[in-house]
Amino acid sequence: MREIQIGGLVSFTTIDYPGKLAAVLFLVGCPLRCAYCSNPHLLCPGDGEYDPERVFEWLKSRVGKLEAVVFSGGEALMQGDATIEYMRRVRDLGFKIGLHTNGFYPDTLRRAADVVDWIGLDFKATREKYPDLTGQGVAYDNMIRSLDIWGNTGKDFEVRITCDPRFVAKADLMEIANILMARGVKNIAIQKYIPHFEDAERRTDAPAREQFFNDEILREKINSMFTTITWRE
Ligand code: SF4
Repeated sequence: MREIQIGGLVSFTTIDYPGKLAAVLFLVGCPLRCAYCSNPHLLCPGDGEYDPERVFEWLKSRVGKLEAVVFSGGEALMQGDATIEYMRRVRDLGFKIGLHTNGFYPDTLRRAADVVDWIGLDFKATREKYPDLTGQGVAYDNMIRSLDIWGNTGKDFEVRITCDPRFVAKADLMEIANILMARGVKNIAIQKYIPHFEDAERRTDAPAREQFFNDEILREKINSMFTTITWRE
């Protein structure tokens, strides 16, 4: 089996796994090309800069100090069984396993479900706008399959919507909220779009980025639909 490719590491975080002190591993490779990607250096599969065995030895030294390890990317499930096997080894050390995923690999998620404890799943836009945002025609349908597969595990998760005004309008946000409520999702996070690499032709401005957060009526409506809703401004 191919060795896992790790392109980055955060040694300590309190915000990437709910309620737990965690480390984050950024895996190399992603099938999407989102217009707002903040990790373009991780998108192409290739050799990771971090030796997986050295990272594993370091994780051993974190036992008792950290509670969870989050697999992020890129898209961690793009590396398939290599990722799942590494997750299993990390879990055997006693860590909870978190996964940040774009949902592109529902069948791999199903195989990983016994070793992953919690996921944060991106719901990026309406079905109509997904291809323009992600550069991938099947990304929406795959994400919905992942949502349903994970929902059926009964394990905890959060669905994240990043409100990039180039691809998400207020009406879209309501449409997404209705879809999630209808599927029984309890926890969602609505995230402000923060430009990392401003595109001169499709520039956004602060009022456009803040419109979702300043609209009290919209906020109250969405707040009433879910058990936990986090507005990440
Ligand atoms: S899914 Fe994430 S890592 Fe992949 S292109 Fe989109 S923003 Fe970047």
